[in-house]
Amino acid sequence: MSEEVSTPEELLQIDYRPPQKSWLEPTVDFRKGTYCYSALAKHEEYLELPNPREWHPYEEDWKLPENWKQIILSGMKQRLSKYRSFQLFLDICVRCGACADKCHFFIGSGDPKNMPVVRAELLRSVYRKNFTLAGKLFGKFAGARELTEDVLKEWFYYFYQCTECRRCSVFCPYGIDTCEITMMGRELLDLVGCNINWILDPAAKCYRTGNHLGVPPHAFKPTLEAAVDEVEEITGIRVEAPINRKGAEVLFVAPSADYFAMPHWFTLLGYLMLFHEIGLDYTWSAYASEGGNFGLFHSAELAKRLNAKIYAEAERLGVKWILGGECGHMWRVIHQYMDTFNGPADFLEEPVSPITGTRFENARSTKMVHICEFTADLIANNKLKLDPSRNDKWKVTFHDSCNPARAMGLIEEPRHIIKNVCNYFYEMPENTIKERTFCCGSGAGLGSDENMEMRLRGGFPRANAVKHVHEKYGVNLLACICAIDKAAFPPLLGYWVPGMEVGGVHELVGNALVVKDEKERTTDLRGEALKGTEGKRDV
Ligand code: SF4
Ligand code: SF4
Repeated sequence: MSEEVSTPEELLQIDYRPPQKSWLEPTVDFRKGTYCYSALAKHEEYLELPNPREWHPYEEDWKLPENWKQIILSGMKQRLSKYRSFQLFLDICVRCGACADKCHFFIGSGDPKNMPVVRAELLRSVYRKNFTLAGKLFGKFAGARELTEDVLKEWFYYFYQCTECRRCSVFCPYGIDTCEITMMGRELLDLVGCNINWILDPAAKCYRTGNHLGVPPHAFKPTLEAAVDEVEEITGIRVEAPINRKGAEVLFVAPSADYFAMPHWFTLLGYLMLFHEIGLDYTWSAYASEGGNFGLFHSAELAKRLNAKIYAEAERLGVKWILGGECGHMWRVIHQYMDTFNGPADFLEEPVSPITGTRFENARSTKMVHICEFTADLIANNKLKLDPSRNDKWKVTFHDSCNPARAMGLIEEPRHIIKNVCNYFYEMPENTIKERTFCCGSGAGLGSDENMEMRLRGGFPRANAVKHVHEKYGVNLLACICAIDKAAFPPLLGYWVPGMEVGGVHELVGNALVVKDEKERTTDLRGEALKGTEGKRDV
């Protein structure tokens, strides 16, 4: 972590007093640690995006195209006619303020422009000025303002200070989804070449190699083989990890972090053990080697193009249906946008578990089942032999990742799994979990190191709830089902709640799973001794 970040005590000196100036006056301080770096021209060129150039947010001259204002306003007009929700969300807000204190970035920063209502007003004010009669006639008295370069800079700062988590929408009596306003704001910024590198770099890599990390097929295979070796070391069983196998029943797609990063890697080991134990007829794809979709954080068009490869591979390989791993925003794309992006996937079959016969009717259209739905169903049908005592060193709490919880309602399945594979499970306070879960503060492409102060501020409400169960029950593991969470929480909790570890739900499954004919286990998936053994393994 950067040495420049303040201590927790300093960061908690949050000033919630209203500012001197009206919110209508654009004010942005591109202070180090609170914004993301601009996208490199080479990524914009590769993705064929507008106005590729070298520029920096803190510089006066953003090197915008001459007619930038016209480009943005015509882009707004086009989107108003294309997306009814956009027009509706701009028109119906009554500024009641119910959402105001629900955003983790406002709670952690005290900046009123991080209140969801004000974040939306940054764009809504320009909409009023240019597209409503009241705004044209009464100007700022109707909450309208001109689109200026300073306003554009403010958009950039605050739309890249929203993790598109949708917590605010849960509390809005009108169901206004500020995330969707942020998404439109980012699309409009893109029209004049204002993007961030942490999104376009992985998106460009995904175009080149099929995954955000840029792992080519000849590196994908040995990586999976290394995981197979580790499973053998732990269990004595040599499992298979088939790649590009035509005619398999199921295509499995996971976020690339699962096979490249820690602690995600242990989740991967858990998947491999599970698939072996139930004899799943499946394949990985070296091309659809990414479940995540950073395109979602940029534009609908980019999200659509990245999602398409999963379905193209499912068709090429001739599978019946798709199983997806522990990822967050992948599931938002699949559940909310897949059908209009690339679907319906009529060439696939409605998913049916080959082990239990359960028909996943909720996936009738997308043909894609979440690994937690799949495993919870196996457990509910007594198809797995489990020894939860192997997880006894953990006192577990579960973080509902924003997208699976709020975008697809995946709330009970992971809990059902955890309660069957662990003996000690404790919930965080009710208003911080399930549909009302607090974001990790690093989603939607904001998880870059240069943005660390803002990430720590945004992650504070989540960390605070973790701290509660850590101190009250001795909880020492935060389980989650999102690759971004698994990357974001170690530094976040290391800062706010030292002593906490982070892991995937299928890591816990892999620990507890009694694999047929396995040798006596002496270590868990992390290579640490199981209680009552002396085992130790290098990882
Ligand atoms: S809760 Fe909804 S209506 Fe009220 S201010 Fe927020 S977005 Fe507007
Ligand atoms: S979507 Fe999340 S980050 Fe964005 S304004 Fe709403 S609560 Fe804040």
